[in-house]
Amino acid sequence: MATTSASTHSEQSDLRGLKGVIPLIGLTGGIGSGKTAVSDQLGKLGAGIIDTDVIAHQITAANGSAIESIRKHFGSDYIDANGALDRIKMRTLVFAKPKDKKALEAITHPLIRQETIKQALQLAKDGVPYLVFVVPLLLESGAWLNLIDRLVVVDCPVETQINRVMQRNNLPRSEVEKILKTQASREERLAHADFVIENQGTLSQLTEEVNQLNQKILQIQKG
Ligand code: ATP
Repeated sequence: MATTSASTHSEQSDLRGLKGVIPLIGLTGGIGSGKTAVSDQLGKLGAGIIDTDVIAHQITAANGSAIESIRKHFGSDYIDANGALDRIKMRTLVFAKPKDKKALEAITHPLIRQETIKQALQLAKDGVPYLVFVVPLLLESGAWLNLIDRLVVVDCPVETQINRVMQRNNLPRSEVEKILKTQASREERLAHADFVIENQGTLSQLTEEVNQLNQKILQIQKG
């Protein structure tokens, strides 16, 4: 579930202390475009990765910091037998009811924000050469563009996105198309990109592209 816009102006100001200290790279792309594949590879090359989608999953996993608030607001029906958020049920609800989507975000976004800041500060302290914020809805949530020094967009044809997500999540085409409608278009994302990773070939071609991207990012002057 793309619950991860995770951005407000206060987040921006909390992270602003890192501006000029270490290059701040945003990484976005539509569902199934390959953001995780790219960020995993950048992580292996030494980048500091903060993935807001991973954080969103952690806080809604069993014993996650969002679970009790979700239970309180939505009821135990939305918590599965293991104590984690029932994602399928919640996805159905929030698609149907914007008010519930807002309520869920009011619980999750501050927690995602808090963890994003904590991880960024820690990674900077650890001495990574640059930070990569993986934010699926980076453009949709606005404030990120003011914070980051460069934006990487992972891009592929919509049909490829649909096929990958149908396969990975075992979802029908109609569900994937519904999610796509809530996201910025390819063109909107590409219009903001400093670097584009074209992920329509093999995974080994992707690795080569990401190696080159890493070299380019390393050449960015801090700030
Ligand atoms: P989401 O927005 O849904 O989190 P994402 O943008 O992080 O998706 P990935 O999870 O990296 O995308 O990729 C989606 C699926 O497509 C995964 O199963 C991944 O292994 C596969 N995939 C990504 N890139 C390629 C590629 N170049 N060739 C084959 N499979 C790929």
